[in-house]
Amino acid sequence: MGGKRVAGVPGRPLRYNLASKFCLSNMRVTQFFLATLKEAPADAELVSQKLMLRAGLIRRLAAGIYTWMPLGLRVVRKVENIIREEMNRAGAVELLMPAIQPAELWMESGRWQKYGPELLRLKDRHERDFCVGPTHEEVVTDVVRREVRSYRQLPLHLYQIQTKFRDEIRPRFGVMRGREFVMKDGYSFHASYADLQREYRNMYETYGRIFTRLGLAFRAVAADTGSIGGTGSHEFQVLADSGEDAIAYCPASDYAANIELAEALRPATERSAPSAALNKVATPGVKRCEEVAKALSLPIEKIVKSIAVIRDAEFVLLLLRGDHLLNEIKLRRLPGMDAFRFATETEVVEHLGSKPGSIGPVNANVRIIADRSVSVMSDFVCGANQEGFHLTGVNWTRDLPEPMEIADLRNVAVGDPSPDGKGTLAIARGIEVGHIFQLRTRYSEAMQATFLDESGQSRPFEMGCYGIGVTRIVGAAIEQNHDVKGIVFPAPIAPFEVAIVAIGYRKSEAVRKAAEDLHHKLQEAGIDVLLDDRDERPGVMFADIELIGVPHRITLGERGLKEGIVEYQRRRDGQAAKLPIASAAAELQQRLGG
Ligand code: ATP
Ligand code: MG
Repeated sequence: MGGKRVAGVPGRPLRYNLASKFCLSNMRVTQFFLATLKEAPADAELVSQKLMLRAGLIRRLAAGIYTWMPLGLRVVRKVENIIREEMNRAGAVELLMPAIQPAELWMESGRWQKYGPELLRLKDRHERDFCVGPTHEEVVTDVVRREVRSYRQLPLHLYQIQTKFRDEIRPRFGVMRGREFVMKDGYSFHASYADLQREYRNMYETYGRIFTRLGLAFRAVAADTGSIGGTGSHEFQVLADSGEDAIAYCPASDYAANIELAEALRPATERSAPSAALNKVATPGVKRCEEVAKALSLPIEKIVKSIAVIRDAEFVLLLLRGDHLLNEIKLRRLPGMDAFRFATETEVVEHLGSKPGSIGPVNANVRIIADRSVSVMSDFVCGANQEGFHLTGVNWTRDLPEPMEIADLRNVAVGDPSPDGKGTLAIARGIEVGHIFQLRTRYSEAMQATFLDESGQSRPFEMGCYGIGVTRIVGAAIEQNHDVKGIVFPAPIAPFEVAIVAIGYRKSEAVRKAAEDLHHKLQEAGIDVLLDDRDERPGVMFADIELIGVPHRITLGERGLKEGIVEYQRRRDGQAAKLPIASAAAELQQRLGG
């Protein structure tokens, strides 16, 4: 499917994103509802959150719950329509499922128990249990198991753009981590795993197209599948310093993974031979690795951190290098560790004879799992299992047995070798705007959703699911596109493509006529245009139009009109030009790529 044509309209040269725009008439500031503010509320944390409030895109109703004001809604609708166009183009079919879902379905999938307090539960007047949908695997699986009988009806990909509710423990950053938010969620059903993999690739590419059209700088990263289950998953991350997620990537290759998933390889260097004697040193009041390193004037890479956990009823000591962080997701993947918990102080004292802060593996008669990096350390420092003492010059074999179990227990760090062997890792921060999963038969088996295959046998559907955070995208786009004056919207999602600032609209008949004329011409050309017809000082009008991020501005005033010109300015870089009034509409169309 090629070029800049809309699918399904063969031979007709349409502007690519025409369908994703609004059809408007008479959009004037005096009739619209601009609600700009001089200052953002003091509790707003992120730039995007501040700007969204100042520009009047959103207003807060309760924690994590926002009204989309008319200006913001225009942005949301444009995002939605780009997603819709690309999903339809990729062969998915839109439906709309209810926000309120009966508990029975969640009991069938087992998530009524598992989902936890993020699931907002409620009862109807008959005391029946319901929830407000945080996601729709159960409902869509129910739809399909009732309607689809045969492999001949497959594959099927159903999606919706719908409001979700998740009672997030810490709603923050405005719409970025809201409790109520809009998601595009799609679910695909297949007769075979191979066909699911085909659709997964199709969605991987479709998501790439969507985020490119939205004008976002993003990266697709291999992700942990988290609680949703299944195997195979990618997150689409918008790169931004304020992002909540850390992404490990290799600048020399296309390797990128959520930091929770990126593998920390065994260090390439071999362990050096012992060169120091084992020594017990007093470290009164010193507990954290940084403090131990400082007190002993040693680099933190020489310190071993001991973390006590309980696996079933067994006490286990985890060993990590002082500067490394435990990765709980990796730990949970080790045999028997999926339900681990941290040991209590009492348990630590009981097994090691000392409180946390002075514990270590020497003479410890407990199960030990060493991180790969620890297994190649020599002359290291660890707690002495005696309050206020550490051991220095510790060496494997000589002072304690070789670790029986060595595992990848930690988060990768900057400079670690890339798992694809092509360089070293860097770490960037990102905002997750999309997520695709191969669910396989996790839901279809639990909910007995089956079809008859070619040989007449009943089989559970292979399933995939594909989410996009529609409202989060608005915040993420602003996080990536702003300057001191305000928002710099990527053109495809700007609330208006062009603003006409008419200076003296209420005083000069010539200005009013010229402004109306240009407004009309641009509308006729299918351009989304806002006419600022207020009786305000030019500075006030400019500041508002800049704050709300309109990509192109035409200023029209009496003086210019006398010379037959209007002034053009581009929001992103301030580039300005004088345009003859007669050809202004045509010139603008060209600048918009129409
Ligand atoms: P996160 O790790 O950010 O909590 P998630 O893994 O819970 O996300 P999914 O269940 O995969 O998210 O939901 C699909 C998409 O919905 C996410 O990629 C994200 O863009 C969006 N999303 C999830 N939670 C929120 C929220 N609280 N507010 C706004 N958007 C959200
Ligand atoms: Mg979440």
